[in-house]
Amino acid sequence: MRCRRCGEKAEIYLKRHNTAFCSSCFQVYYSEQVKRNIKREKMFKPNDRILVVVSGGKDSMALWHILLKLGYNVTGMYINLGICGYSDRSQEVVERYSQANNAPVIIKNIEKEYGFSIPALAREIRRSTCSLCGTIKRYLFNKVALDGGFDAVATGHNLDDEAATLLGNVLSWQEGYLARQSPVLPSTHPKLVKKVKPLYTLTERENLAYVLFNGIEFIHEECPHALGASSILYKEILNKLEDESPGTKQRFLTNFYKKGKKFFEKYSEPVKLNECKICGQVTTAEICSFCRLRQMAEKKKVDSMPQEGEDF
Ligand code: SF4
Ligand code: ZN
Repeated sequence: MRCRRCGEKAEIYLKRHNTAFCSSCFQVYYSEQVKRNIKREKMFKPNDRILVVVSGGKDSMALWHILLKLGYNVTGMYINLGICGYSDRSQEVVERYSQANNAPVIIKNIEKEYGFSIPALAREIRRSTCSLCGTIKRYLFNKVALDGGFDAVATGHNLDDEAATLLGNVLSWQEGYLARQSPVLPSTHPKLVKKVKPLYTLTERENLAYVLFNGIEFIHEECPHALGASSILYKEILNKLEDESPGTKQRFLTNFYKKGKKFFEKYSEPVKLNECKICGQVTTAEICSFCRLRQMAEKKKVDSMPQEGEDF
């Protein structure tokens, strides 16, 4: 098979576009997609300061790399969640990339800075590790971006992630979530920083190809807490549909934005936002979820060390 752009030997076939590229033409296709997404969705301007959330996985490493390559003013941000083994290994990947590419990165360590680990607190207060993790990550993304004067927080969500989220929201008819799902979550309060997803039209496989073609190191293992997540099942179902009918995932997501989303707009009621009485961050309550978690950790005196073997 030949590359559609240059006629050289193709190295990747994109079934949904019925086209094939050599590695260098694939990178042109990839960067055009990212540039188009940023422009079409007005994600950020050329001189904006962007905080890129990096986990060490292929998607966020691809995003960090492409935004730097496109000349944006980018700083990485890594949060060490205290997930036994996995967090330290992924932090090393991020630090090596930062050093090798002279790319600034901000590292946050929950255990060192706040005195508790997410798995230990989740056990103690009988909540799911992922729900705590989501709360803490959202809080820190916004706080670090706000304190550092960043214009936007960029995440590596890809087409597979976004289509799986959409499928989950449709299956349970979550009108509010459907109204809010978007490649850009605008700032609705002076203390809320805009969130953007520049890779939302690129698949996991395309991000993997991008990091492999560029020799970018990434952590291959998944977070151990991801096992059994419903999003994995939705991705598998969508992949089966995609195999039978290439382009299904993209049509599902982009046609939702073009045709379906407008029917849910009435469910996107503006919520009253307050500033947390303890930390000043935005919340719908008097005290934000993060500060409440910190209070719980303090009350329970959560042992910051995960118990033996529980996180694998
Ligand atoms: Fe956090 Fe891991 Fe759950 Fe993802 S899978 S939300 S990183 S605990
Ligand atoms: Zn707070």
